Amino acid sequence: MGSVNVPAMGIEVVRYNYRLRPGAVAERALTQEWHRCRFLWNEAVHQAKTGVRPTFAKLSKLLTEARARSSWLRDGSQVAQQQMLRTYAQALDASFTVKGRGWPRFKARKKTLPSLEYTRRGFRIREGRLVLPKGVSIPVVWSRELPSEPTSVRIIQDSLGHWYASFVVTRVAESIQVADQTSAVGIDWEVSRTATATEERFDLPHAGHRKRCAAELAKSQRRMARRRHGRGHPPSRGYRQARRTAAKVQKKAARQNRHDGRIWAKTVVDAHHLIAVEDFKPRFLSKTNMARKAADAAVGAIKRELVEQGRRAGRKVVVVRPAYTTMTCSGCFARAKQPLGLGERIFRCWVCGHTACRDRNAARVILAVAERGHTGVDDVSQVDHLPSGGGAVAV
Ligand SMILES: [Zn+2]
Repeated sequence: MGSVNVPAMGIEVVRYNYRLRPGAVAERALTQEWHRCRFLWNEAVHQAKTGVRPTFAKLSKLLTEARARSSWLRDGSQVAQQQMLRTYAQALDASFTVKGRGWPRFKARKKTLPSLEYTRRGFRIREGRLVLPKGVSIPVVWSRELPSEPTSVRIIQDSLGHWYASFVVTRVAESIQVADQTSAVGIDWEVSRTATATEERFDLPHAGHRKRCAAELAKSQRRMARRRHGRGHPPSRGYRQARRTAAKVQKKAARQNRHDGRIWAKTVVDAHHLIAVEDFKPRFLSKTNMARKAADAAVGAIKRELVEQGRRAGRKVVVVRPAYTTMTCSGCFARAKQPLGLGERIFRCWVCGHTACRDRNAARVILAVAERGHTGVDDVSQVDHLPSGGGAVAV
């Protein structure tokens, strides 16, 4: 970077994730803990269905009574059980206050992945192991050092059966000041190319390994399709194996994508003061194949990473609605009558004759919108020197 690096001091709260390697005993304990917590959650959901809206204080009291009655519940950690109910109460509150958020739902035994939370008084780290209540002790793969004493930990199991611990810690934020306060970048998302920036050197190219993963995934999915039994038959061993391979490939792809995204986001954030990002909405949510959904999720994850890193570093991050970005000329801001077909890679302005790569043009429009302080591209048409008539409309 050509900027002067002056670290700015500040404290930030972040999560540090580690792989856990529980033995058979610890794994059974974690699974049983999860089932107890899941039972409590489902009981709370059931209560809410009868018309009561329980607060956390109420649920907590009920938990104390239930633990006094049931030795099965007493065998588990009170901290984890309380945290589960706290999460439930928060989810229930959100369903009333956050628009579009539904009621908390039942956690089905076979469909929900284990997730347990322990606050400070519910866990310890001793001799490199994570120690939980009731004598559960789990070796941790310390892939990096914790920056501070963790305040809480979430333990999860993924679809492959691997366990992870996610510690909440505070650390000193080290942001690099950008020398040029006017430096700005616009980012346009494209499923095929991931990210196009206003300047080519800040593009995130579509990495070859992602393509390779897509091919591998398609192969394992074809194998799954071949081995699938009809309805009402239990899945064969071969099918389950193929399903596991597919899940592994997907996970590997997601991990590589996250790694690439992090490095790219840092490069972009380090060099710019203003970061204008197209608001990416998943395009293939339904009726499409898994590879496309995975590509969608990958772009979404990279966008979140960029926005998060930008905010942490104290940059001005503007999220721009994608309406009309591909239809607007970045030279004169006239808007074309017709949207560009997906196959057309070149943008040609009907008014000023400006020609640019479609994505590059969109990135410039996104930046222009952010620089003018608007967050809707609709506003672009209000630019003064906009010519009237011709091939573009300005309404
Ligand atoms: Zn133009």
